[in-house]
Amino acid sequence: MKLVLATSNKGKLREIKALCTEHEVISYSELIEEFEIVEDAHTFKDNALLKARAVFNAIGNKNMVVIADDSGISIDVLDGAPGIYSARHAGEDACDKDNLYKLIEDIKAKGATESGAHYTAAIAIVTKDVEKTVHGWMYGTAICETRGEGGFGYDPMFIPLGYEKTLGELDDEIKKTLSHRSKALGLALKIINTL
Ligand code: IMP
Repeated sequence: MKLVLATSNKGKLREIKALCTEHEVISYSELIEEFEIVEDAHTFKDNALLKARAVFNAIGNKNMVVIADDSGISIDVLDGAPGIYSARHAGEDACDKDNLYKLIEDIKAKGATESGAHYTAAIAIVTKDVEKTVHGWMYGTAICETRGEGGFGYDPMFIPLGYEKTLGELDDEIKKTLSHRSKALGLALKIINTL
């Protein structure tokens, strides 16, 4: 089945393609011109739905299966921030590195050198007949330094529970078995396989 992903985020696209080998996954930007989707909902779930619906409607082909991932990191000493605002933690035009270093500074500003943290992923599936969402989480520790170049986003500062290395240092294959995205996608595939 062809799955259209409502994102052009290269990190997400790479991971979802690797997790979804039995389907063909393409970014919506391979079908239509990229457009801005204002993510103004208040939960991961509603933002994922909003993105999947926006792309489904923009493509205009009722036979498409569109999936969207809305995800982010929540830091205990920051009362759960940045959460749904993870992609723009350092400002509207911030890149992954800006967000990463700002988050480290924010944790230090609380007088901490590390904090409990978790990632959340909500995945929405939208077809002409179905609108569903599923979630996955990954727990661990956010540290105040970056280690490794793997993964994307906040991965160089995140040590998954049970490990001593960051996701930046660990092999992609390990992230695949642990991640918020792989857990949510596992549930999403159960729904997709019934379509
Ligand atoms: P979204 O595009 O609004 O869902 O923003 C997701 C943001 O959360 C990304 O830009 C990253 O900053 C962060 N994020 C989500 N998942 C991951 C992950 O697996 N690793 C690292 N950062 C992530």
